[in-house]
Amino acid sequence: MSLPEFSDLKKLINWEKVAKQIATPEECEKLLSADDFKEAKKLVWLAAETWLPRDYVEFNIHGVEEKYEVLLKDCKRNVKGYFDLRGTINGISRPFKPYKGRHFILDWKTSRNTLDQTWKDRLVGSWQHLIYAWQYNEKFGIIPSVIYRGISRNQDTREILMEIRPVDIEETERYLKQAANIITLLEPEEVWFMNKPYSCNAYGKECIRLVDCEDFSMPRRLIDKGQAMSYTGIKLLGLCPERYRRDKLDAEDQKVKSDSEESLLGKGIHRGLAEIWRQIFQKN
Ligand code: SF4
Repeated sequence: MSLPEFSDLKKLINWEKVAKQIATPEECEKLLSADDFKEAKKLVWLAAETWLPRDYVEFNIHGVEEKYEVLLKDCKRNVKGYFDLRGTINGISRPFKPYKGRHFILDWKTSRNTLDQTWKDRLVGSWQHLIYAWQYNEKFGIIPSVIYRGISRNQDTREILMEIRPVDIEETERYLKQAANIITLLEPEEVWFMNKPYSCNAYGKECIRLVDCEDFSMPRRLIDKGQAMSYTGIKLLGLCPERYRRDKLDAEDQKVKSDSEESLLGKGIHRGLAEIWRQIFQKN
């Protein structure tokens, strides 16, 4: 089967609506510069041009940008996450032929850097897609394949298609339960384990809690018990439990964390892509 031309598909898209999704929310209006907005639109266009024609014949889309919370049994705690896209594969074109009839979840990844082997290795080794696959399996009783799609600011695109095995799901459940047990153990504490100084400059950036932790002036308060876990939260917990507690306190106090330019751009691109895929596949 031949693929439709992007020049035909693009006529089906209300691009004004797409642009509004990229920039309308308050955070973007206030913080995204005109150049960033232009760049976000360009990257959304690039992703659509690269993948939409093939998706049009290859995917049956069952959901776009859905937020989920799934109960982690025995731990009485939910695990939350996002599926950017989910559906089934028709197995018509490469590389999807061997995946005919399989369920999939897809995650968009924006990056400042090249989508090289390091980028790929970091994603393949991450718990993120395993947590999403575990959630999907809990919710629908099916282990999905996972697709990561990278869009880089240097106009590069890359796709990674991953097979998820039953052992991945079992080990992910173990990982989630152990994270939940750590949180449950620490919840009655007013200050949590501080992994200083080893985590205080993680990713080459000084932790914003450093002064508090150095002179022990951190707020001594319990966080609300039983909160849902997320991939990002568990990652933070592993890095430094006290940093996890402080983030939770900020969220409870509704202190809005200021997004980096990178993260604002990423969020805008995600919303723009969701709008296109919704328009094409969900007809509304
Ligand atoms: S909260 Fe931040 S500054 Fe404090 S110990 Fe943890 S990483 Fe270091």
